[in-house]
Amino acid sequence: MSEAISDVAVVGAGLAGLTCARELLSQGYRVHVFERCETVSGRMATLQINSTEERELLHFDHGAQYFTARSPEFSQQVYDWEDRQVVQEWPGPFVTLSEGVCGPAIGDDVRYVGIPGMDALCVDLARQCIETDNRNSTLTVSADVLPLEPKEKGWQIRYKNPITGTVTKQETVFDTVVLAIPSPQVRAILPVDSPLIEHTLQFQMGPCLAVLLAFDKSLSLPYGGAFVQNSPIRWLSNNSSMPNRKALPQQWVLHPSSEWSAEHWDDSDESVLTQICAAFEKATAVKIPEPRFLSLYRWDDALPLELASQGYFTDPDQRLIVAGDWCTDARVEGAYLSGLKAARHLADLPASQ
Ligand SMILES: Cc1cc2nc3c(=O)[nH]c(=O)nc-3n(C[C@H](O)[C@H](O)[C@H](O)COP(=O)(O)OP(=O)(O)OC[C@H]3O[C@@H](n4cnc5c(N)ncnc54)[C@H](O)[C@@H]3O)c2cc1C
Repeated sequence: MSEAISDVAVVGAGLAGLTCARELLSQGYRVHVFERCETVSGRMATLQINSTEERELLHFDHGAQYFTARSPEFSQQVYDWEDRQVVQEWPGPFVTLSEGVCGPAIGDDVRYVGIPGMDALCVDLARQCIETDNRNSTLTVSADVLPLEPKEKGWQIRYKNPITGTVTKQETVFDTVVLAIPSPQVRAILPVDSPLIEHTLQFQMGPCLAVLLAFDKSLSLPYGGAFVQNSPIRWLSNNSSMPNRKALPQQWVLHPSSEWSAEHWDDSDESVLTQICAAFEKATAVKIPEPRFLSLYRWDDALPLELASQGYFTDPDQRLIVAGDWCTDARVEGAYLSGLKAARHLADLPASQ
């Protein structure tokens, strides 16, 4: 890298963005992470329900359900997280499920989850970034980055607080910007003449609905996670069967397929919940009791419909890099590898003039 310390903006504090930020910090860059939401983690978030009707807090892992580690780089990271009890193996059990009939789940990868929630991985990375060297890294949450503004020597960032609507202009002019966000969101903030837009257009993303249920008593179903067949539901999990979760109330997460989610995206919450609860009964072949808590979450831009394979896209002249799971593989591991590759690519670029 250059002799002078470069300021890099990383937009998005999901796994790709935070992995990229940590790697850049270790290479001596000054890194500023901007995140639209109030907390880090993106699609690996853990939803905390704290309504007045609830007698105790509920925590739902409503996005990514588990992850596997196949590459040496990510396996190394997972060993470190395991040692520090940030992640743990989820024994499941895992099955395929069709109208109450269970079969063996495909694949024998170890399935891991974050402890105490899936967001633990990103929380750990964010902590490492901030602790590496306070002077060299900042993380700004509730910062929805607006279209990037080119300056003579880099990029200016303005962001809007999604709750108050306040717009803030960041004084720093950034040498390089890494956009670690889903492809449709990249398009919304790139300059219209950026050659990167063309790349992102090829990679659309689809939605995913998530139905969240809590029961006062255990449903006594003999699996922790099921890949569902012959149903609008693609995946269902007993969130309470993951390590370090409360056994009761027993919490379940149901993910309809992306096709069903897209088809029913504009339906009312009530209609989706009725249809998916009926599908839950049919898939499990069990009369489901009245849930104590029932809610719908809508993941927009949830899953890439096509994947790039190179890990990132770059415009070296404008010093813009685009990363995220959709650049590699639509999985937690894909997001990690994309963030890592984007950071290593930046280190290989000639220093800006
Ligand atoms: C329902 C669902 C189930 C899944 N199940 C699994 C699973 O079981 N196993 C698995 O391996 N993977 C699973 N995945 C995929 C996995 O969650 C993703 O691959 C991974 O989390 C993507 O990480 P990312 O950093 O690329 O993107 P994201 O997690 O989407 O992070 C991007 C971040 O950028 C922020 N952002 C966007 N635009 C802006 C902006 N303009 N300004 C500031 N911030 C912005 C977002 O708020 C977000 O925090 C699932 C995903 C979903 C949605």
